[in-house]
Amino acid sequence: MALRFQIEARSGAARAGRLITPHGEVQTPVFMPVGTLGSVKGVPQEILEELGVKILLGNTYHLYLRPGIEQVRRLGGLHRFMSWDRAILTDSGGFQVFSLSELRKLTEEGVTFRSHLDGSTQFLSPEAATEAQIGLGADIIMAFDECTEYPAEPSRVRSSMELTLRWAERSKKYFEEHKHEVPWGRGHVGTAAPSCPGAHRRRDASTTETELRSAGRARRPAPTWDGMTQSAGKTPASSAGQPRAAAPTHSDHTQALFGIVQGGMDPVLRKESAERTIEIGFPGYAIGGLSVGEPRKLTREIVEATIQHLPAETPRYLMGVGTPEEIVEYANLGIDMMDCVLPTRAARHGLLFTSEGKISIKQARYAGDRGPLDPNCGCRVCARYSRAYLRHLYASNEILAQVLNTVHNLSFYLDTMRAVRHSIALGDRPQFLSGK
Ligand SMILES: [Zn+2]
Repeated sequence: MALRFQIEARSGAARAGRLITPHGEVQTPVFMPVGTLGSVKGVPQEILEELGVKILLGNTYHLYLRPGIEQVRRLGGLHRFMSWDRAILTDSGGFQVFSLSELRKLTEEGVTFRSHLDGSTQFLSPEAATEAQIGLGADIIMAFDECTEYPAEPSRVRSSMELTLRWAERSKKYFEEHKHEVPWGRGHVGTAAPSCPGAHRRRDASTTETELRSAGRARRPAPTWDGMTQSAGKTPASSAGQPRAAAPTHSDHTQALFGIVQGGMDPVLRKESAERTIEIGFPGYAIGGLSVGEPRKLTREIVEATIQHLPAETPRYLMGVGTPEEIVEYANLGIDMMDCVLPTRAARHGLLFTSEGKISIKQARYAGDRGPLDPNCGCRVCARYSRAYLRHLYASNEILAQVLNTVHNLSFYLDTMRAVRHSIALGDRPQFLSGK
């Protein structure tokens, strides 16, 4: 088992369900905060937990360049490295290669590019991107695709879509051959939570395993993700004579590889891309290549045109969208998963989403405002600090401004999705509730 998805309620095209991953359960539709470099900028993991984040996104491209996949793998994978015991999704790196790097050279084999950090020459292919994502060990990983630019000529959109399909097959083939190499340490329970006194011991056991692996021993099948329930009686000893903390009683647990539908802004190509990606066969499907500069109305049309060709019972992930209003709209169309840098990036620029509309906290009008940022928000920021204080922090370029703004914006997005799920469960049409 890699992933299970259960739809529990429907309202129109919208569905509410549960995504059961090797690192816990995620209620859908879900908004996934972006933790580019293994960090949701400015927010410690314990606060993400407090906010109710059950899955977050890491960027393969960024982690590949820094600190490097092998380093993360040696440290037990991304979950352990960043001390995050809940689910993670990584993108394939394709989008960043095409949007961030310079001097790209695209061939059938893959993409040669220059690192945006130091100008070094790097190469990613379906195999390399999948290998990197297995090394990082996210619960859900993505096939390596080419994100078609907008606007693009019809012939270019088709050839790009065809390339993505060939790369999807190669991504899947590599994944099937290597999926048991995921670095989840046996006895994995993840973070060293204070309430969990065995955590450090388990972590040590895993380190030993990782070291053995680094020393060139054969990789074992994927270890369990639920060390707490493992039976010590089944524990084998390592060849070094060292007792193991736990046995891989669930060795069939692996990551889940999602396919990505491309096809630019052409509904006919989207349909073809969806059908041929489904033919290859994945446990979930993403809609890629949107939010690349096209008008929002077109984004919506393409989402609608694509989603009707996706299987009803598998998770659907819309990549890289959107505003609070938009994520509600996409949930209404039947999208189950979304991610976007908007709440976190906007927060760092003083742009805050509230139940009374958008607020630019840098404005002088808030300098004497004693009220909370959002009177209808229950987050720790709104419970404690005034708009005047937040405005002062931002104007003074205090680091705390970025932290507090991000915590609030994420809280607002997560609350929005909670309300969406609630509406679907009641059989109502989810609506974005804003005072403006
Ligand atoms: Zn708040």
